[in-house]
Amino acid sequence: MPTSLYDEPGLVKSVLEAKSQSKQCGNFFECATDLTASSLTKSDCCLPEKRKWIVCSAWPYVNTIPHLGTFIQLLSADVFSRYLTMKGDEYVSVSGSDEHGTPIEVEAIRTGIPPKQLTDKYHKTICELLDKYDVKLTNYTRTDNPTHVRVVQDVCNKMYSNGYIFEQTTELFYCKKCERFLPDRFVEGECPFCGYDGARGDQCESCGRVLEALELKNAKCVVCGTKPETKSSKHWFFDLPKLEGKLRTYLEASTQFPSNARNFSMRWLEEGLKARALTRDNKWGIPAPFPGAEDKTIYVWIEAVLGYVSAVVEWAEKNGKPEEWKKFWFDKSTKNVHFIGKDNIPFHTIIFPALLMASGDDYVLPWQVSSTEFILYESQKFSKSRRVGVWVDEALKIADAEYWRFILMAMRPETKDANFTWQEFESLVNSGLNDAIGNFINRTLTFISTRYGGEVPGQGTYDDTDSHLMNEIKQAPNRVGEFFENFRLREALSSIVELARNGNQYMSTREPWHLIKKDEKKAATTLYVSVQLVYAIAVLLAPFMPRTAEKILNQLGLENTIVAGMWENIGVHLIHAGHKIGNPEPLFRKVSASEIQKMRISKPHR
Ligand SMILES: [Zn+2]
Ligand SMILES: [Zn+2]
Repeated sequence: MPTSLYDEPGLVKSVLEAKSQSKQCGNFFECATDLTASSLTKSDCCLPEKRKWIVCSAWPYVNTIPHLGTFIQLLSADVFSRYLTMKGDEYVSVSGSDEHGTPIEVEAIRTGIPPKQLTDKYHKTICELLDKYDVKLTNYTRTDNPTHVRVVQDVCNKMYSNGYIFEQTTELFYCKKCERFLPDRFVEGECPFCGYDGARGDQCESCGRVLEALELKNAKCVVCGTKPETKSSKHWFFDLPKLEGKLRTYLEASTQFPSNARNFSMRWLEEGLKARALTRDNKWGIPAPFPGAEDKTIYVWIEAVLGYVSAVVEWAEKNGKPEEWKKFWFDKSTKNVHFIGKDNIPFHTIIFPALLMASGDDYVLPWQVSSTEFILYESQKFSKSRRVGVWVDEALKIADAEYWRFILMAMRPETKDANFTWQEFESLVNSGLNDAIGNFINRTLTFISTRYGGEVPGQGTYDDTDSHLMNEIKQAPNRVGEFFENFRLREALSSIVELARNGNQYMSTREPWHLIKKDEKKAATTLYVSVQLVYAIAVLLAPFMPRTAEKILNQLGLENTIVAGMWENIGVHLIHAGHKIGNPEPLFRKVSASEIQKMRISKPHR
């Protein structure tokens, strides 16, 4: 028998044949070293083909620290990317601090602190917090970086020469008292569509519609409260209607979009696309590159979405391979996915693709938007001004980052709004983390440690119950992976908790602590199967709780690094009898009712 495929020319030939027959054999040589010729044509004999991804998550706007509702997008991108790592896929994950635009400018006016000083402070804090939460993107950058400025101006210039930009003098709100135009969030009023009082000059956060400031009813200047007058100003517009046909074709073909994104985008098309002003009279922004637009800046939303491109460019440049970004953005097989809130849908399904189309370059368009519903705090909307919610920094004073990663993913509002309550927090920590996962792992490892001297006992003979659980373990990577592939991260996590519950059920039915006295072999089998499940849970949990996964692997006496290919190997690479495990220790602890009460009352206010 050859020990390697390369030892026998005939075998290499059959591998190549198999490779050409099956799309799944892209990585054949990496995993086929143990295979015999007879198994070569099986699709399960090799790692699936490496896929290529650009994973994007909404850029937090840095006029404050993100609250949990905003943070969930960055966390989702991190969890998903970690899954891709384990699958062996190739990806870049990007996001960054969105620094320009009116809210920062408004805050700068209010506080007397220059905008750049404000964003420097928040950007630094956010980077430190991402680190604390183990959110590791390929490039988390910021919109004032020179590469971003260059890419945005370059795309705008291309749009201009391709005939997608026109000039027009329009009436805009102007505050006489503040002596300035009132773009976007400098003005607030009633939404003309849903009547929400508090709609901003560029978007209504209640119904999600993108607005032109003049459409607002009862508008007022957010700085001084004055009712604005109108004044004319020349601006550069993006001729969106010109792209209607292309956008329709793209959206109609995007049947994989979740229904909220699809419905919203199609409604936009039905209502008729309007040209959108690309420029603003703001000072705090990227200078508009159009001839005659020297005193204008680019609208913050336009430049922020182009950050998905510039962040990959910047990453490539930093790595000394300045052309490498094209390998992702200009390859039609790349899957470009976006983790966003539902209020950001139109910017990702219409504006961003339209910008890419108008540039004339052959960019890959967003393939999927994982657009979540809202997360509420104790049934109320998160609100910075009313101090409603939990912010990412204060959350760490309440619980460990790993707990929050679990809780946020367990609550991820994938199909409907989620309501964060302290009661739900208690139940998720106590019953999910502690009782289901922690308890199963700890009772298994402690039993092996005290009754078998820390050595995994022999497999013995499986009965139906053992086989059933072993089958569940074998199927877990596919079952949980299926949820990941459909961006159902919450369901992926809950199916892992379910698996741990099944493990507890198995232990409780088997009662190995009694069995060891009357049927030693069966007790051994029980622990052998249980330890396989512990390993499976550790690996499956790794995208969600990387530090916990490492701890479990450590307690199992295994190398605690998470590597490519690990996902598929669950239930295939088994822990052998006689393997010496590490020291079992409780992984989590319960929170008490009085602690919960304290959190609720003394939640640090900002
Ligand atoms: Zn509205
Ligand atoms: Zn004013």
